[in-house]
Amino acid sequence: MARYTGPVCRICRREGAKMFLKGDRCFSGKCAYSKRPNPPGQHGSGRRSKISEYGTQLREKQKVKRAYGLLEKQFRREFERAEKMQGPAGENLLQLLERRLDNVVYRLGLGDSRAQARQFVMHGHILVNGKKVDIPSYTTNVGDVITVAPRSAQEEHFKQVREEGAKAAVPPWLEFNPETLTGRVATVPGRDDIDLTIEEHLIVELYSR
Ligand code: SF4
Repeated sequence: MARYTGPVCRICRREGAKMFLKGDRCFSGKCAYSKRPNPPGQHGSGRRSKISEYGTQLREKQKVKRAYGLLEKQFRREFERAEKMQGPAGENLLQLLERRLDNVVYRLGLGDSRAQARQFVMHGHILVNGKKVDIPSYTTNVGDVITVAPRSAQEEHFKQVREEGAKAAVPPWLEFNPETLTGRVATVPGRDDIDLTIEEHLIVELYSR
């Protein structure tokens, strides 16, 4: 699956927010955004110029797209699905992004970052309802049971998760048992369960142009 492979911390500096893309490093003194919160590039340390309405909408879309590690085509596809669902398209979009298997693996604490969680899915370490699912964009449903394949559970990373439990708090729409490395989608994620500051109406406005 195609994905962004450039410098990750640059994304946080570009979007002007910590986006927690690098696992433990994001919570340490090594965080590039904490050290240099100005935009990257030659003119980054200067004053931010006033941006247009379109620019604001575009930045918001880029921020969300990058936080979830999607490329434009994949993001647009999720938006089109969101538009066909009942209810506000912006909220539907965030719900679909949260329900992606790679995000669920991350939110359960099985991966330190969404990028690592995606790798675990793609490498066949993750089972959904007992069957291997190696598609990061797979949309989980209420009642789905997500666990680590028995052989993979012996790997050092997962042993550590079992011993230490999930590092971050598991959101209320998910349940997780670290001893068995098993999670369950208890309910659909609500708007308040999104841990990033997002103004989704800007994305809707952008795509409605
Ligand atoms: Fe962003 Fe994490 Fe890099 Fe800090 S360490 S700039 S939060 S990806």
